Amino acid sequence: MIFIGQSIFVILYAFTNGYLQLKCLHSFIRINMDAYIVLLVIVVMVAVVLFYKKPQKRGFVPPNFRELFQEHVSFYRALNPEEKKRFEEKIIEFLGYIHIKGVKTEVEELDRLLVAASGVIPIFGFPEWKYYNLREVLLYPYTFDHEEFLSEAARNYSDTLGMVGNGPLQRVMILSKPALRIGFENSMSTENTGIHEFVHLLDKEDGAVDGLPEALLKHQYAIPWINLMNDNIVAIKEGRSDINTYGATNKAEFFAVVSEYFFKRPDLFRENHGDLYDLMTRIFHQAPPTSLPHES
Ligand SMILES: [Zn+2]
Repeated sequence: MIFIGQSIFVILYAFTNGYLQLKCLHSFIRINMDAYIVLLVIVVMVAVVLFYKKPQKRGFVPPNFRELFQEHVSFYRALNPEEKKRFEEKIIEFLGYIHIKGVKTEVEELDRLLVAASGVIPIFGFPEWKYYNLREVLLYPYTFDHEEFLSEAARNYSDTLGMVGNGPLQRVMILSKPALRIGFENSMSTENTGIHEFVHLLDKEDGAVDGLPEALLKHQYAIPWINLMNDNIVAIKEGRSDINTYGATNKAEFFAVVSEYFFKRPDLFRENHGDLYDLMTRIFHQAPPTSLPHES
């Protein structure tokens, strides 16, 4: 075995130097023992880097988490059994690398699950997706006051139900706990603050929160998507649309607001905004499940 290793090394060495030294194998190995060990260490290190897979940390979920999803998350309810299993796996993975912390409020198991559902729903069409640009979600007990946050980005932010941090709050998301809950409670509404904020994160993946998720959207759909956004923002401003008026703030907010509608009421969204719906199934690589009727 040792002899084979030595021979391989000699052949490799000889090859790189342009000639064979097989005749003086024994003395050559002895002279080059140090180099041999160094090479061996390098080979082992490269193999470790290439083939070692860090075990994924799995997040904690309470024993009744399926019941809680069934009761509170209409997206989950409408999935078939196989998709439900995949959804649950994504939730466990999400909770393994995202920390959820309450600020002046208790974080209940349902809150952790709803944050995770808000994150998993928009990326359910991307099996390998992970939120590398997020580390922590902070839950606040109310619609929070800008003055509580010291960063300039936070002060300038007008959406008080949730925000994606910048600057010192990079990789941090802040959500109002009541807003998070309400987003899932009323499945007849077209609003969901948790999904809204996670869609901003997807949008941010290419470096700019601008309504154009270049990491998700194939190049040929970019212009049609921009045109559709512009047309629909005009329609909102002129009162010709049922999309939340907050969506007319700018393209980034438009994308987040229509995504809430798309995931929460896909049936109604498709009916009222077929062109947006079609492009959004391409952006998100999924058609949100609609097999079960929505409950009020
Ligand atoms: Zn927003």
